[in-house]
Amino acid sequence: MNNFPAALPQSPHVPVTTVDLPAFKKAGVHLDLLRLDLVHPLISGNKWFKLKYALEAVRASDCHRVLSFGGAWSNHIHALSNAGYEQGLETIGVIRGERPAQLSQTLVDAAGWGMALEFVSRAQYRNKSDQQFIARLHDKYGDFHCLPEGGSGEWVVAGCREILSLFNAADYQLICCACGTGGTLAGLIADKPEGVDLLGVPVLKGGEFLYQDIRRLLAQAGVNDPGGWTLELDSHEGGYARVSVELALAMKCFTEYSGIGLEPVYSGKAFLALQRKLLRGELRPGSRVMLIHTGGMQGLRGMEDILSKKLP
Ligand SMILES: *Cc1c(COP(=O)(O)O)cnc(C)c1O
Repeated sequence: MNNFPAALPQSPHVPVTTVDLPAFKKAGVHLDLLRLDLVHPLISGNKWFKLKYALEAVRASDCHRVLSFGGAWSNHIHALSNAGYEQGLETIGVIRGERPAQLSQTLVDAAGWGMALEFVSRAQYRNKSDQQFIARLHDKYGDFHCLPEGGSGEWVVAGCREILSLFNAADYQLICCACGTGGTLAGLIADKPEGVDLLGVPVLKGGEFLYQDIRRLLAQAGVNDPGGWTLELDSHEGGYARVSVELALAMKCFTEYSGIGLEPVYSGKAFLALQRKLLRGELRPGSRVMLIHTGGMQGLRGMEDILSKKLP
């Protein structure tokens, strides 16, 4: 037994909502939404699952300090800082780019939960796994566990495979989620029922590299790749955090009909990819599709201006 507060509950309650969109209805396609955005008020969405076992391992070790990486609006940094605060762990965030005059709201929150912020140049950030760089961080902060950017380390498959047990996955022909590092999709692949297809939507330009990264994560977790998953490489809309008019309109329509908000960096693009598949006639009439809302609505605070400029 350790003296730290219990981590994250074993089975969180995550609702499934049916989304009645005219275009899907007309095509006879049933669309459901898995509300991972509701899993925890602050450790949002897929990050809850990504952090679950990683932080359990930290708590079980002698060193209760965790260092990780992210941008100014990073959902991972936000979730990690709050989880660390709740679980009595020290956190350090290595943040891409020089310290700005005014911190983003994400970083204000993170600092408020006790995360130490270490700003580094974009060039240094690109070389963040460099041994000398990490050694200097150890000189400054002492011993720490290093969690990769986005939280996709050795525990990611173990945590994210639990997402598929939150609903009856075998009832769906297609399950779709956005991909940053691909860690979440790797977890879904690990527990995918036969006959269900998975679609990952990389939000970065040139997301082909994820095929290899995902296979590596599966191999590290000792999981045989069952196949039945693909990446939709053309819904990045120009790259990470880039927004197209089509994306802004798709999100607006989704929210008007469902009453549920999306954000444009991840879940918005996953929905856009599904809508495009529907319009290309690639979703069969009578089929059931699950879109996973991976959360991260806090990041919307950094995107509202860009988003509103795209709408008439
Ligand atoms: C981090 C994040 C993702 C990407 O998850 P990966 O496991 O890195 O692919 C998707 N959606 C949201 C909202 C996120 O915050």
